Amino acid sequence: MRRSVIQGVGFLFLLLGPRVAAAQHPVTVPLPDGRYKTDILVVVAHPDDEGAATPYLARALDEGKRVAVVFGTRGSSGANEAGAEQAAALGEIREIEARNALATLGITNVWFLSGKDTASQNVLQSLASWGHGECLEQLVRLVRLTRPEILLTFLPGTFIGEDHGDHQASGVLATEAFDLAGDPTAFPEQISGPMKRLEPLLENLRPWQPKKIYYFADADREDIFRGKGPEYSVKDISKSSKQPYWRMALESFRAHQTQAKSFLDSLAQMDEAQIEKMATSDSGWSESQRFVLGKSLVGGTTTGDVFEGVKPGGILFVRPEAAAAPVMADLSAELAGPWSFYAEFRRAHALTNLPHPEPPEIALQAPGTLVIPLWLRNQTAQAQ
Ligand SMILES: [Zn+2]
Repeated sequence: MRRSVIQGVGFLFLLLGPRVAAAQHPVTVPLPDGRYKTDILVVVAHPDDEGAATPYLARALDEGKRVAVVFGTRGSSGANEAGAEQAAALGEIREIEARNALATLGITNVWFLSGKDTASQNVLQSLASWGHGECLEQLVRLVRLTRPEILLTFLPGTFIGEDHGDHQASGVLATEAFDLAGDPTAFPEQISGPMKRLEPLLENLRPWQPKKIYYFADADREDIFRGKGPEYSVKDISKSSKQPYWRMALESFRAHQTQAKSFLDSLAQMDEAQIEKMATSDSGWSESQRFVLGKSLVGGTTTGDVFEGVKPGGILFVRPEAAAAPVMADLSAELAGPWSFYAEFRRAHALTNLPHPEPPEIALQAPGTLVIPLWLRNQTAQAQ
């Protein structure tokens, strides 16, 4: 088999002999575009969600890290505090607001997936509305394009708190992309290059395995996240701006006029001490930013620095091993919907460190009705 291939190549050489001889000079193979290589890829849902991480991002930029951001949607729903524009037109404005907010910090590599704003706390609803498969394909492409060391995203889970379904969806997609972008069998057309004319859809990317994934929670409770990852004070002073990181985050947030004009206007009535108190309280960024380590493929400690153990260069892709399925009784009842999805999701992506409330929780507005989906399993041969 091998021999015949070599003979085949020899035959080709003979046929092309004179032309090949004329092209003896070395051929330069183009490398990936270095302008898009990133250290941290932030994956969030809506314009302004980046604010959940901006004090830390300002610190990382101070340390020379390269940061890029992906938004799931353009934020086309919700009220407009700055003008008359609504719906798709509002989305066009919010894209610019998000780009301007990040440009304030020096981040210009910013992308938007094709997700649509979804008013729900049910992640499955958001994934359906976004077009899960299409958005995942887009995000895997961006991971391969930006080759991040670290993914930073919302924690996928069901909690009392804002816990927006779209926020959860961004965390689900980022986790899936973490496990897929290095896999040469996932979206293989992205990592194939055109070999002849009329193959213009092959993208010529390379597989890329990020090294660590960290989450930030969108929950009211904080107890179960403590000690699960590193913490960074928002009051430390930036080397580059000589301002505290919370202040840089606030300046960045000023771009979001359509979402927070009344709040931003109210800042004009406050003195500096009042602004600091508000920005570093629990209703602002609180005193420190806390992340949860999802998983690391390069070792390091749970609460150590985000870049602990990260060295330059790629690492080998290893297909993640799912934990063993729990043993079920012959007859069983369990919460279905997002609750059973997340139990399976944590298992499938080997997220053994990921906190989740036990017993499960969800907020219910009073007066109101909560519909609880259940799986009823009967593994016996009889009706029960
Ligand atoms: Zn949001």
